[in-house]
Amino acid sequence: MARVYNFSAGPAVLPEEVLKEAAEEMLDYRGTGMSVMEMSHRSKAFQTIIDEAEQDIRDLMNIPDNYKVLFLQGGASQQFAAVPMNLKKNGKAAYIVTGQWAKKAAQEAEKYLDVKVVASSADKTFSYIPDCSDLDIDDDVDYVYICENNTIYGTKFHTLPNTKGHELVADLSSCFLSEPVDVEKYGVIYGGVQKNIGPAGVVIAIIREDLIPETVEDYVPTMLAWKTQADAGSLYNTPPCYGIYICGKVFKWIKKMGGLDAMKKHNEEKAKILYDFLDQSELFKGTVVKEDRSLMNVPFVTGDADLDAKFVAEAKAAGLENLKGHRSVGGMRASIYNAMPIEGVKALVEFMKKFEAENK
Ligand SMILES: *Cc1c(COP(=O)(O)O)cnc(C)c1O
Repeated sequence: MARVYNFSAGPAVLPEEVLKEAAEEMLDYRGTGMSVMEMSHRSKAFQTIIDEAEQDIRDLMNIPDNYKVLFLQGGASQQFAAVPMNLKKNGKAAYIVTGQWAKKAAQEAEKYLDVKVVASSADKTFSYIPDCSDLDIDDDVDYVYICENNTIYGTKFHTLPNTKGHELVADLSSCFLSEPVDVEKYGVIYGGVQKNIGPAGVVIAIIREDLIPETVEDYVPTMLAWKTQADAGSLYNTPPCYGIYICGKVFKWIKKMGGLDAMKKHNEEKAKILYDFLDQSELFKGTVVKEDRSLMNVPFVTGDADLDAKFVAEAKAAGLENLKGHRSVGGMRASIYNAMPIEGVKALVEFMKKFEAENK
């Protein structure tokens, strides 16, 4: 068995310890005589799994009691619709567009309410985060929306926007649990877990209780009304049981690693190795403004598409996988999520040095 260093943007690398533990429990989960995949979501064993998962993420993120934690399906993309459907009051929302995911969220929201794009970095291919300290936000918007870490472009909001008192809704898919978060600054946080937490198929939504409406408009599917899931403890219907079980294991792994402060330190250390190399390289260049760099997704280019392709192919042959940039931007991208060991980043930089020497 040979494991590679997997730099995929998602689904992405998971902690080896978690995978091994899941393998050990595959046929007989703790004396139940069955796999978690095979058990009723109404069983005591599964209830314990989901309760512990919720408690562990609450502990990790310090989630206040007046926020619900929901384990949902449909990907982050499903929440692009659920957010406007549940938060619609005046029928207006402000979106900050810093990449494809924010743009898609804004386009989806337009189906249900009036969307005003109050800031965008589209003018420079989303290579920076716009100044959001004094935006022109109408008084009657229902919420202000951001994608906090831009997976494709490799930028991150290091300062949250000034929402002028409006609720902040944030897609944290690709930075979930990568560093501490002050949950109280948000009305809604959500993210697909397949970037930094677990297997595809689970979305975690953290929603302040007063933002979960008692009633929604008739057109809203029962499954997309947050209240449905909040009232049922994420068990209105069959949840993605196995995915939630793995998320729970990852929460415990992060706790064991020292929590989100330790994760941040670990992630900063890894990112620094790669960015420091990029900053002095004569061949490779980072593509985003320094101040807005993501700790999770690091895009870079050589400036020559053929050389980029050669790099990706040779890296793969050397056990460094999934370094191709997103199909919309090209170049390379190294996603260095929580579970990427520092040795993986060091191996990547060593390989880049060698490639640079051979291809200058
Ligand atoms: C991957 C990603 C999405 C889309 O997630 P799905 O679960 O595939 O719908 C949305 N937002 C961000 C920031 C992402 O990285």
